[in-house]
Amino acid sequence: MAEILKVLKGTKDILPQDINMWQFVEKKANEIFSTYGFKEIRTPIIEVTELFSRGVGDTTDIVNKEMYTFDKSDRSITLRPENTAGVVRSYIENGMSRLSAPVKLWYKGPMFRYERPQAGRQRQFHQVGVEMFGIKQATADAEVILAAVSFLKSLGLNDLDVEINSLGCPVCREDFKNRLKAVLKPYFEELCDDCKNRYEKNPLRLLDCKVDSCKKIFEKPEIQQVINSDFICDECNNHYTELKLYLDKMGIKYCENKLLVRGLDYYNRTVFEIKSNNLGSQNAVCGGGRYDNLVAQLGGEPTPAVGFAMGMERLISLMEKQESKKLDGYIVSNYTVDALIFAEELRNQGLSVEFDLTNKKFTKQLEKASKVAKYAFILGEDEVSNNQVSIKNLEQGTQIKVDRANCVKMLEL
Ligand code: ATP
Ligand code: MG
Repeated sequence: MAEILKVLKGTKDILPQDINMWQFVEKKANEIFSTYGFKEIRTPIIEVTELFSRGVGDTTDIVNKEMYTFDKSDRSITLRPENTAGVVRSYIENGMSRLSAPVKLWYKGPMFRYERPQAGRQRQFHQVGVEMFGIKQATADAEVILAAVSFLKSLGLNDLDVEINSLGCPVCREDFKNRLKAVLKPYFEELCDDCKNRYEKNPLRLLDCKVDSCKKIFEKPEIQQVINSDFICDECNNHYTELKLYLDKMGIKYCENKLLVRGLDYYNRTVFEIKSNNLGSQNAVCGGGRYDNLVAQLGGEPTPAVGFAMGMERLISLMEKQESKKLDGYIVSNYTVDALIFAEELRNQGLSVEFDLTNKKFTKQLEKASKVAKYAFILGEDEVSNNQVSIKNLEQGTQIKVDRANCVKMLEL
């Protein structure tokens, strides 16, 4: 028999049993981004290599180490490692700057990076993202972040952390870069090889280094002082303050992270990431920011722009984790009829509830409840005769007794 061939390392089949989740995410992307006025664009998977060396930046890991590049009829061609550069190329090539601003585009599809495969990191993976062209005001940054958060909510992902930072503009950043280089100089020999390279070419990227010995160096007080200094100019600062005001007004919780610099060269002013505590070390589901210089860098008229990209595999893995989450409640009772009726009452109010169908011992039921549910609803003799329920919060161990009619109101779900 012939040898069986296997899927390439770092790539995966999406099988029929998993396709529902993918189709759901794609449908939600279309639905939600449409409500913000984004239209879908599909650009080719192959582009000329120069698009990425110029667009993503030749000091980045993506361009230096991670691109799938090959030659065909004397042209160097690359499988797209991300889609912003391709969308910008298409925006310029198709004269979209003539359309009235903002031009809002969204995309989905496979990206290719030659990285070390591990949980949450593949060589062919999928991104969904948006790009907004033509608006320099922070309203655009806020709207893009809002679209990201709404989309995540529509997937049932509410428990995520938004981190923001401002990288300033090329002018104010220059001064910051020089100060950073000066304060890091005494430690140059201790930096990892990547950081030694970045030191001259792109010192901001040092802050993004994942190597422990480098991270230790950045903790030194004199370096922290530079990192935490407010280096951005007044204009950039106003833009950043405005963005924070909009996010506050919209009730979007965020955290400011001075170490957030992002792996791509094209960003200026706003950068943001959305992270989850449930993904292990590859914890970012979304990365984005403003890139006011990219359109000009790729030969177009100077046009401000802002966007983000999300990793679809990471979104789906979070959704799967969420799905297997605990029941809202488990009824603990030896009064089967009461349990049966009360479970149905709670389900009618939207809770997920189960109870022991075989009427095991009370303590056994309580053990089961703590494994499968957030709350135990206890119907003992007292509770049954007074039409009450004891609610035990199984994470915190606290317990209260209330009238059954008030049960749902008392829960934090
Ligand atoms: P990371 O720090 O995880 O390498 P990145 O800064 O390289 O991320 P971006 O280029 O901003 O990531 O891509 C946006 C999102 O795409 C990431 O937040 C992540 O969810 C996803 N992503 C990036 N690279 C991969 C990969 N190799 N496999 C799966 N998902 C990825
Ligand atoms: Mg990366």
